[in-house]
Amino acid sequence: MTAHATVDSILTDSRPAMSARVEARDVVFEYVLGRPVLNRWSAVFPIGSMTALTGPSGRGKSTLLYLLGLMLHPTGGEILVDGTPVSGLRDADRARLRATRFGFVFQDAALDHTRTVLDNVTETALYAGLHRRDVTPRALELLDRFDVDVPGHRRPGQVSGGQAQRIALCRALLIDPGVLLADEPTGNLDPATATLVVEALRDHARTGAAVIVVTHSPEVAAACDTEIRL
Ligand code: ADP
Ligand code: MG
Repeated sequence: MTAHATVDSILTDSRPAMSARVEARDVVFEYVLGRPVLNRWSAVFPIGSMTALTGPSGRGKSTLLYLLGLMLHPTGGEILVDGTPVSGLRDADRARLRATRFGFVFQDAALDHTRTVLDNVTETALYAGLHRRDVTPRALELLDRFDVDVPGHRRPGQVSGGQAQRIALCRALLIDPGVLLADEPTGNLDPATATLVVEALRDHARTGAAVIVVTHSPEVAAACDTEIRL
């Protein structure tokens, strides 16, 4: 992909393990009119790098992750992927871009409790157009790699917080996203499992992805290439 991809090529090119550069340019965001959480905030998240977003609670870290993940619209400024502004795309295009290029690990795991663990992991990949028979073996492999150790047919209500967090990570990694966004992905984990997760994020950055991690943990921040304090 060239430095300035067209919107079309960004939308149609859904090769796995694709790298992407993400940029926030002069981003303003306000939940309440006239009270910006972010005010002309800019940063570049390069290909193949892992960035920690740190800072006190309420500073706007989760908000920024939602903006970078195209789930919130900036009030001003823009989000760019591979040099192309994407925050202004119509909803359907943003949804498709998210499904094919972005992986999210939400702070509370955000699993669907009405579906099985395995379905939770494969859900986004199926939405992105991949076939169940292709993604199921990889989903099982990821669950095994992260030692989730629960039967795939179990429902998330019956797993621990730490397991839920790892299931959410498996879901995010399943499509080999070019952009991986994680909000406190080690918050509920014991040190050994936290290390496993951080190494997985590092490995994923090595494939060319931009990995962005909100964290309060100095160890996680130290494992990143860059730390940005909000
Ligand atoms: P952080 O992740 O750094 O703790 P957040 O992004 O969650 O910060 O929140 C940043 C600010 O925006 C906080 O002051 C928070 O109260 C406010 N905020 C977050 N979500 C909403 C919302 N849905 N409506 C109004 N204000 C919100
Ligand atoms: Mg937060």
